[in-house]
Amino acid sequence: MDDADSIDLSDNDEFMLDVEITAANVQDAINMALADDDNSNSNLTTNVDLPQLSDELINFDGNKFGEELLFKIDNDNIEKILYQHWKTFVPQCYIYHTNLIKGIIEQRTQEILFRPLDIYLYGTLNTDDAIQIIRSYNKKSTVCGHLFKSEEPTYFCRDCCVDPTCVLCTDCFLQSEHRKHRYKMNVSAGGGYCDCGDPEAWKQNVHCNLHLPHDDNNESADDILNRLPSDLRLRAKNLFNILLRFIIKLLCTGNYQDIPNELKNEYWDGDHKNYVTILFNDEVHTYDQVIHVLSRAIQCTKQEGHELASLVDREGRTAIRIGTTEQCRDVQQTIRIRTADVPLKCEIYPNSFISLQYFAQKLLTYLQNIIELSDGFRRIFCECEIECDDELDDITRTEKALLSEKMLWKSARSALHQIFINSFFMDSEWKKTFAILYMKNYSTVWRNFVKDPDEYVSFTDLSVQVYTVPTLAKYLISSHNAFQTIVDSFLEYCQSKLDHGKLLFSRTTNASLQHEFRRAQSILYDLKYLLGVVPQEYTVELRENFLNGFRVFLQLLSYMHGMDKVARQVGQHVEFDPEWETAFNLVIKIQSIISSILDWCAQDKELLLGAYEATGLTLAEIQKTSDISHLIKDKNNSSIVKTTVNDLKVDCYAYDVAKDPISVHIPVVRLFVALHIHLQKYTNTATTFNNLCEKLKIYPCFIYEEALRIQVLGAQHVAGLWKRNGYSLSNQIYYYSNIKCRKEMYDRDILALQVGASLTPSDTYLIQLMHKFNLLEWIRSPENGHSSETESKVKEKVRIMEEFLHLLLIIIGERHEPGIGKVTREEKLTREVIHQLCISPMAHSELIRGLQDSGQLELGSGDFEAVLKEVADFKRGNATKGNYELKANRLLEYNPFYYHYSKADQCKSEEYVIKRRKLNDDGISTTLFIPCPPLFTESFQPIIHILDSNIFLTLLKACIYRSADSKAQLWSEAILNRALHLITLACYEQERESNFEFYSKCQKSELDKLINQLHLNTPSKAETCKELLAYVIKLYNKFNETNEQLNSSTITTNQDTSDLTKRAQRKRKDLAAQKRAKIIAQMTELQKNFIEKNIQLCSDSIDEQQISTIESISPGTSSQLSSLISSSDQQILSTSPNTEFKFEPMSIDDTYPIIQCCFGRNDIELSQTTKQILTCIFCQENSEVKLNSEALVLSAYVQNSRVLSKTRTRRIENWDTFDPTFMSNDLHWGVHVSSCGHAIHASCWTKYHNSITSQDHRRTLRMRGSANYDTERNEFLCPLCQTLSNTIIPILPSLRIFADERKLAQISFNEWLDGLDKALNGSIESRYELDTHEQQIFFNPCPLTTITKMMAERVAQNFQLLFGFAGDSRVQDFSDSIRERLMNFAKNVYVFGLNVDPDDDNDRIPIILWTSCSYTIQSTEQLLRIDSKSIFSQLSIRQSELINCLTKVSAVYGSLHDSDKIKKHCLKLLSVLLLTRTNIQIPSLIDIDLFHLLVSLCFTLPILFASKQTSPSLTNVPTGNLNDLYLVRLILMAHCIQILSSQGFLYEIKNDNSQQFIIRHKNDDDDDAEKETIQKLIEKIIKNQTPPSSSIQLLSLDEILDKLKQSLLPLLRCTALFYHHLTGISWPGESGLDEYSIICHYLGLPICLSKLFDIENERFSNDLINNWISNLSTSKSLIKYPILVNELHPLPKEYIDLMNQVSQGVAPYKYARDEARSPCICLTCGDVVVRSSSSSITTPNLLTTNSLISTLLNIDQTVGPCNLHTQQCCGPVGLYLRVKECSLLLLNIINDGRINKTRGTFIPAPYLDDYGETDQNLRRGNPLHLCDERYHALYRRWLSHAIPEDISRNMEFNNTSIYAHNWSQF
Ligand SMILES: [Zn+2]
Ligand SMILES: [Zn+2]
Ligand SMILES: [Zn+2]
Ligand SMILES: [Zn+2]
Ligand SMILES: [Zn+2]
Ligand SMILES: [Zn+2]
Repeated sequence: MDDADSIDLSDNDEFMLDVEITAANVQDAINMALADDDNSNSNLTTNVDLPQLSDELINFDGNKFGEELLFKIDNDNIEKILYQHWKTFVPQCYIYHTNLIKGIIEQRTQEILFRPLDIYLYGTLNTDDAIQIIRSYNKKSTVCGHLFKSEEPTYFCRDCCVDPTCVLCTDCFLQSEHRKHRYKMNVSAGGGYCDCGDPEAWKQNVHCNLHLPHDDNNESADDILNRLPSDLRLRAKNLFNILLRFIIKLLCTGNYQDIPNELKNEYWDGDHKNYVTILFNDEVHTYDQVIHVLSRAIQCTKQEGHELASLVDREGRTAIRIGTTEQCRDVQQTIRIRTADVPLKCEIYPNSFISLQYFAQKLLTYLQNIIELSDGFRRIFCECEIECDDELDDITRTEKALLSEKMLWKSARSALHQIFINSFFMDSEWKKTFAILYMKNYSTVWRNFVKDPDEYVSFTDLSVQVYTVPTLAKYLISSHNAFQTIVDSFLEYCQSKLDHGKLLFSRTTNASLQHEFRRAQSILYDLKYLLGVVPQEYTVELRENFLNGFRVFLQLLSYMHGMDKVARQVGQHVEFDPEWETAFNLVIKIQSIISSILDWCAQDKELLLGAYEATGLTLAEIQKTSDISHLIKDKNNSSIVKTTVNDLKVDCYAYDVAKDPISVHIPVVRLFVALHIHLQKYTNTATTFNNLCEKLKIYPCFIYEEALRIQVLGAQHVAGLWKRNGYSLSNQIYYYSNIKCRKEMYDRDILALQVGASLTPSDTYLIQLMHKFNLLEWIRSPENGHSSETESKVKEKVRIMEEFLHLLLIIIGERHEPGIGKVTREEKLTREVIHQLCISPMAHSELIRGLQDSGQLELGSGDFEAVLKEVADFKRGNATKGNYELKANRLLEYNPFYYHYSKADQCKSEEYVIKRRKLNDDGISTTLFIPCPPLFTESFQPIIHILDSNIFLTLLKACIYRSADSKAQLWSEAILNRALHLITLACYEQERESNFEFYSKCQKSELDKLINQLHLNTPSKAETCKELLAYVIKLYNKFNETNEQLNSSTITTNQDTSDLTKRAQRKRKDLAAQKRAKIIAQMTELQKNFIEKNIQLCSDSIDEQQISTIESISPGTSSQLSSLISSSDQQILSTSPNTEFKFEPMSIDDTYPIIQCCFGRNDIELSQTTKQILTCIFCQENSEVKLNSEALVLSAYVQNSRVLSKTRTRRIENWDTFDPTFMSNDLHWGVHVSSCGHAIHASCWTKYHNSITSQDHRRTLRMRGSANYDTERNEFLCPLCQTLSNTIIPILPSLRIFADERKLAQISFNEWLDGLDKALNGSIESRYELDTHEQQIFFNPCPLTTITKMMAERVAQNFQLLFGFAGDSRVQDFSDSIRERLMNFAKNVYVFGLNVDPDDDNDRIPIILWTSCSYTIQSTEQLLRIDSKSIFSQLSIRQSELINCLTKVSAVYGSLHDSDKIKKHCLKLLSVLLLTRTNIQIPSLIDIDLFHLLVSLCFTLPILFASKQTSPSLTNVPTGNLNDLYLVRLILMAHCIQILSSQGFLYEIKNDNSQQFIIRHKNDDDDDAEKETIQKLIEKIIKNQTPPSSSIQLLSLDEILDKLKQSLLPLLRCTALFYHHLTGISWPGESGLDEYSIICHYLGLPICLSKLFDIENERFSNDLINNWISNLSTSKSLIKYPILVNELHPLPKEYIDLMNQVSQGVAPYKYARDEARSPCICLTCGDVVVRSSSSSITTPNLLTTNSLISTLLNIDQTVGPCNLHTQQCCGPVGLYLRVKECSLLLLNIINDGRINKTRGTFIPAPYLDDYGETDQNLRRGNPLHLCDERYHALYRRWLSHAIPEDISRNMEFNNTSIYAHNWSQF
């Protein structure tokens, strides 16, 4: 089945049809069906109500039966015995059942059906040994012949392959010389085979090391057989014959009654319930149609329908109903009625027949395995294949199979196909035998294929294997007339399309007929292969048969000649655009055949003359039947009219392009002129031509007449005369000169005109041309530039004149074609490349695409590479694609009238070349002159006399006259310009040939004077041509140095040139001024439309390298804003402290007073509260960030994340009930917030958001979900930079303003700890639950007074000071706007972070908010770490803006929430750190992420003692006081213990140095103290740990210390980041210290660990440590410190390694069109993900009860393997490398069990070829190497959680909507 075929031309990219076919991929997925058999196992079957195994079946002894066969060895009855056996057992072993996924169940088949055959063949029960012995008879093979499965990589060598169908398998490739050559890789679609060892496939290095020939290899054919024992040979022959006979009888029959009676069991005819309805595949109906029909016919669900449809697609047929005849017939009837227009094929058979057929297919696979064992077997098998079964006719078995394609279905066909390849094609003798048989039945085979609705696998695919063998092809042409046979077969299909002798296609014919003709066109590929290699020698038969073929080929061309005629539409616009595509597709297919034909003819004189004459004959026929023009009234008149110009009488064709019908298809003429240019090698061209014309009565001018008409058509089309003829004509004209078709269209027509010019007197020729262009007035009255016609008519005429002069420039100037000019192919190519690069610098692939025969160039020899190197420099971009830039010295070769330029190319190239020449500044004029063309060959030399003909000079005179005449209407600048270029060409010729008459005629007609005059007083309208004029005069004057008059003009020229330079300078200045003005204008524009402009800017700059650029976009566009922010920040931060310290909370070395500690300074007077002013991106107004004003917000994106997770397998099953209080230290989940950092008013945002939501509502009516964001999930794009967002964060002012002005509390660390301990233990209450009989522990926060009562007075006072805030009425409160935004943000973080339903009162909301704060900081820290950046001031603005907002919002959020709940949360958190006297259920300290704990505690501690009367206010906001200092110290101590007691820490050396920080040790005294402290800790820890095995040594103290500090750093960095943004204290300046020390200083902590712990002095903390250690010993955490940043899976350097890795690891997939089956590598874990089989995604139990069916998932919701893997491995974001496609798949999955939405995008894989280009979809197949920069860029995007954003941007870029692709199927 197939989706409706699109018209080939509709899509430019798919236009190249002929590149698709190679031997490796032509039998598109031929193996699909077979591969399925290979891995078949019957476990797919389920508990469907199948019949029980009969006793007969269970008890059958295969060995016994096999021995019986062996005893009857000489008995002819073996076949009968086997038939009897099969009749009984096959239907029992293969049971068909519609309820089975595979449709069939196999039971004991190996034992019952195949084992006896083995025993018989090998003559023993011990078959394994026998096989070993048989193998040993084989000689080492010198050919590979490995059959490709689909998805297998293949390799093609550009240096050595004979044609692109020659490929190697992986094993051979890796063992061959070719891997050092310029190879290409591809992925086979299956069905081809490895050509290693075939001398006809390789120019050199025929054999790989595995298949090297050895000395005794030249033995005769008999030896292969004689190596096998004679009895074995006999049995093999006998068995193969029996099996083959059986197979052919069963498979190649249309009627089940035809098979031998011995095979029919009792369920054959009559009344039984074992009939079956079989549904067949076709290419007409789509899946959906089939599913729909099936659901009606057999009442199946959509899911079952899909299964059946895919089974039909894969196998070619399937059983859909089993039952009585009536039941089966009903189904058949329904299906036929429901598909009445094109009925689906559907037949009824007895079940047993289907089983036998299935067995026959299985036997083919069985035989294939056997003949692979031994060369001898293979040869015997070949012999059997060409035997005949029927005495009556002598059709061999092979032919029988070939001819019965229409009876066969896909899997049977491919089985036969494979065995043919495996037998005949592995043996050169037999290959020939097969080729002859194939040729004999060629037309029938094709007829079957063309009529066949299931085209997917066909015997016609064997053509490529036959015809690409050069010797075979030559043999078939000369001895079996293959050329003619093939063309005849195609002509058969053309007959039905003929209308008045021309092909005619229409859009309205029915689909199946259209499919038929499309299929028939593939015959032309066979012709291409057949003629692909030109023979070295020609024999008489070869010539004769070639010409036979050539003549019928001419017949085909004459059918095309003049097809799709159009006449100019006047008055009314054309009603229907007529069909035109098929003709052009034919042209494309024929193109390569014609090149081959020409190559054949050019090599041999006789052949060439024969072909020339044959073509002439056809041409004469065409001339006779060509249309009579409306100009001729009398039909008997000749179609020639006499035209007179200046007394010259000229024969012209009576034909008016504007009125008579015209066709762009004139292949016969084109072939004729193509042959014509080869004549000069052997004869006198002109004489041969004239003789031929005379003999065949061809008007010589007919040769170019039709080509000329098409040029006129083109000119008139440009001039707008054909506007009313619609798109059909425009498209034809476009493709006529497009790269894809021009070789056999436009180029040949120019050739025809050149041939004409070379054979016709120049004046006559020019008059004929101008007659057709309707421009004779120009030469009849050259001085008259006026016209009486309307202005538009005048414009038309001028346009046509311009085109005419352009054409003359081409006819005379285009000589870079071997045969026309004296040039080599290489020079032609060089010129092509130069002109391509004159358009702009290009990437390699882009360049290749614009060249003729690009396919061959890329595959062919190194010529192209050499040319490229010579003319261009490769400029490699940084991790982007590199471009080729034309070398400066080659710019002079630029011809602005290069004939392959389109109008657009011409403009672009002129601009580019002028720009480049200006840059060079080496005196080269920027005026573009046509370069001097090469010499014509002798036969084309007459063309130059156009330039010195009288008519030409008259024409020039007309042009110059009219330039001087300011009132002339029939004139344009372009006309003058072209005329001057023509004069330039004439001067070049004059220089070359002294007797050239141009100069003398110029003087005579005083043309030179006219030119000089024009130059001296150039009218303003011709000003731009002045430089060109000067150049022309300079050239001209070379021929007359003595002439004084002209000398004077030389002087003027010189003056002119000095003038020129001045003018050039002025021009440059003007340009600069213009540029400046432009920029200013742009800037004002920018300011005006700031928003729209930027939106556009962003979308514009998203391109292929998007990954690397996105990062820079948003900060860039916001620089204005950010500088504002940072400057105001600076102001806050630079407030210097002027207060003395009376109290030292901790002993800190003050060696570095420059570093300001961020804590303990809440007594600082903040006299001047710095204002923070931001500009709203929406309304452009400035606003100050204040608490009590309207909220300013940043758009932000919240996502659930598993990027930092250390345990990929850990998953949270139910987010609704999940308790997030403690974050585990493997960070296995998290909530990440990102933002683009653009500020907007909350009210402005609301306006914007409302507008996009309503927009989206409106849009859903028309095109659902066409945006790249999902409004259902609250998504929107930042109005400025289009970053994907789903919430907004309010921006808050500095929190310093909340700090009240109380005195600094003076309390020691121990006292503080003691206080908290009291608070914790005082708050724990327990209650005995009556119903559960358990002690229930809960928190009841006790008031501050209760605790202070227990303290000494001083301590109590200070503790009170620290915690007991009085509600301060002076502190301003939030505005409603800010409050609302705060609450909303927290809710959104909760909803999108956990993917749960909104729940305003959920207790987890603050916790998730704080989690998101810590997690975002941690991921930022890691991002900096992989870039080896310090945390100080190296954040991007976007990052720091976000963290700033996020910390502040998190900090104030606690005071908005229910204080009681916060207090309880705080106590719960404290209970992990402090000693509790009861056992509460909490996780062990060792498993907790301490940074999360720190952040949560920091936010909750200030609220712990908030009094109930005054609910928490903004005074309860953390601002970096003593609380924070002690908290950090406590956490750090705990972290030390956590690290030291982690598993293996004390024993294992760090293994990864890449992510290490540098830590220097400075102070020796401290060092010793530190060591002492650590030593003590270690001792305590070891005592508590279970000792490891004695062999492991403890690390040295130095190593441990170093490792410990390394491990502490991530936490320290995060903490410093956190407090920096919370307090706003500026970063320390440059101090020369290492990062560890700076951070310690910044946080007010001692660098020396011994001071941190202070074990001696602080008794309380000592107890705490002991307690921790004794509790930690029980933990089983597997986290290793230092914790490293997660990395993406390392990829191999070479892409082929990846291909091989995947092709070996994964079974080939079977659906060619199934996206989900391509192997993908998960980049987060490295697993290869592939859908294993079609059934794995569905419930195996398909039918039976209704309840089961209802539980089946809807097919649309089945989730693909990457989706499944993503959810298990990496959470919501998945990164996959699709190996076959060489692209990256980015997925973003939102799945909470209720909704499951997936979106994704494809981007190129990070592999580049040698030209610096990616190769998505492996279109080019060059060797690819990993680009580390690209991969690292992807890694950074992933780590910075930007993948959802990238997907959104890429979708916008590709204009796809979010869910358009069904991404969940991947
Ligand atoms: Zn091979
Ligand atoms: Zn090999
Ligand atoms: Zn090679
Ligand atoms: Zn605004
Ligand atoms: Zn933005
Ligand atoms: Zn994975």
